[in-house]
Amino acid sequence: MATPPRGKVTIDIEECKGCGLCVDACPPKCLLLMAELNAYGVHPAHYTGEHCTACGICFYACPEPGAITVYRWIAPKPAILPQEAAHAPSL
Ligand code: SF4
Ligand code: SF4
Repeated sequence: MATPPRGKVTIDIEECKGCGLCVDACPPKCLLLMAELNAYGVHPAHYTGEHCTACGICFYACPEPGAITVYRWIAPKPAILPQEAAHAPSL
């Protein structure tokens, strides 16, 4: 069973030079090159929308500053039940 995504990436297709380094570097293979061309006449990278772990490898592989932005989901803090709060150390 696939694990839920832990983040996502956005790619500025007009900054992308279509080198494909991020596509090759992504461990879960959730990036691909689009069929369409951008303003540079290259096939820009695209996030499939699934399985990103927010590892950041694509960000460090990309030679174009600002082309890739990685977002990591922040897990919500567990709720403290009233009986647990009564035993919590005071600050
Ligand atoms: S952050 Fe990691 S898992 Fe997500 S797209 Fe980039 S390389 Fe792939
Ligand atoms: S590594 Fe950067 S420039 Fe190369 S395809 Fe991916 S987003 Fe585009």
